[in-house]
Amino acid sequence: MPSDRLNAHLRTQLDDLRAKGLYKAERRIESPQRAGIVVNGREAVNFCANNYLGLANHPDVVAAAAEGLKAWGYGLSSVRFICGTQDIHKRAEQQVARFFRKADSILYISCFDANGGLFEPLLTEEDAILSDELNHASIIDGVRLCKAKRFRYRHNDLADLRAKLEEAKDCRFRMVFTDSVFSMDGDLAKLPDICDLADRYDALVGIDDCHATGHLGATGRGAAEELGVLDRIDVITGTLGKTLGGASGGFTAASAEVVDWLRNRSRPYLFSNSVPPALVVAGMKALELVDAAGELRTRLKANTARLRAGLEGAGFVVKPGPTPILPVMLGDAAVATRMADELLRRGVYVIGFSYPVVPQGQARIRIQVSAAHTDGQLDQAITAFTEVGRLLGVLK
Ligand SMILES: *Cc1c(COP(=O)(O)O)cnc(C)c1O
Repeated sequence: MPSDRLNAHLRTQLDDLRAKGLYKAERRIESPQRAGIVVNGREAVNFCANNYLGLANHPDVVAAAAEGLKAWGYGLSSVRFICGTQDIHKRAEQQVARFFRKADSILYISCFDANGGLFEPLLTEEDAILSDELNHASIIDGVRLCKAKRFRYRHNDLADLRAKLEEAKDCRFRMVFTDSVFSMDGDLAKLPDICDLADRYDALVGIDDCHATGHLGATGRGAAEELGVLDRIDVITGTLGKTLGGASGGFTAASAEVVDWLRNRSRPYLFSNSVPPALVVAGMKALELVDAAGELRTRLKANTARLRAGLEGAGFVVKPGPTPILPVMLGDAAVATRMADELLRRGVYVIGFSYPVVPQGQARIRIQVSAAHTDGQLDQAITAFTEVGRLLGVLK
C-alpha cells in the first residue's frame, strides 16, 4: 500500500525529530487564556501568550462576542462576495482603516491569509519584492506565491536593502515588506530609514504589525506609530489573534485602490469563509478598548521594565529592545529546554527556543510580558529564574 510506505517514511522522520530534540509536543492549558493559567493541574504564571494588554478574555470582549453571536448568528456559510458580508464586516473594516489612518481595509480569516493573499494580486514578473530575511513564515509563503522578483535582504541591514533596491531599480513597482516587530528577538524594523530609502528608490513600504498593534505607539497604532512613520507606510497587515482579543481574524489596511483590488483578486479572501460575526463584533470592541488603553500600555511598559531589571540584576543576559518581548539568552538548546521545565515546576510558564527557530548557539527563553501581570507574578518569575539559573549553572 502506498500509504504504508508514506507512514513508515514519516515515522522515521518523526523519530529523527525526537532524537534531535526538535519534536513539538503540545502542552495542555486547563483554563482560559490569561496571566495566570492552569497547566498539569497547577497554577502557572503565563509568559508565552501574545496577550500583551490582557485583552484575551477581557470581560467586555467576551460580552461583545456573545452579543455578536446573538445578534448576527454563528456562521455565514459563505465567502464574503457571495453572501458572507454583513453590516458588521463593513463597519469593522472601516474601523480598522480609521485606526491606521488608511483609506480602507479588508478582513481575512487570519493574518496568515492576509499575508498569503497580499503579493500575488498586486505584483507581477515586472515588479520586485524586497523582504527581510527574518520575516514571518506567512510573508515568505505569500512572496513565494507571487511572480515578482524576490530580493531577501539581511535582517535590518539598510546597506543590503539599498543594494537590493539598486538591483531592482528597473522594475515597474518595488515593495519593501517587513515584520514591524521580530518576535524572536523583540527588535523593531528600522522603519524611518526604510521609508527614507524607499522614497529614494520610489518603492512602496508594507509592514506586518502583528506583534505591535494595540500595545506599541502612544495610541496603540503599532510600530509605525512608535517610530513616527504611520503615514509613510503604504500597506499594514495585522491580526485580531494577538493583542486585539486573541481569537482570530486578520486584515490588510491600505489605499482604497489596493483594498478594492484585493477584494477582487486576493485568493484567501475570494475562496475562504467570511470571519464569523462573533469575532468581528469582539474585534471591534477590542479596537475600541485599545483606543482607551493608555493606562494598560503604561502598565505594560512598567511591567516589562520591572522584569527586565530583575533578570538583568540577577545576572541574566536579556537582549535589549523596546518591546515586551524579553529574550533571555542561554546559548545551549538543552539548557533552554531544561530551564523551561524547571521553571514550570516553580509555577512559571515559559518556552525555550532553539535551532532552527533561532540561529544555532543562540538558544533562549522568550518571555512575553502582559499588562495583566501583577507585580507579585513578575517577582515570582524573577525569583524562580534566579533559583533555576543557579541550579543549572547559568548564574554564578
Ligand atoms: C502571529 C503572526 C502572524 C499570523 O497571524 P494569524 O492571524 O494568527 O494568522 C503573521 N505574521 C506575524 C508577524 C505574526 O506574528
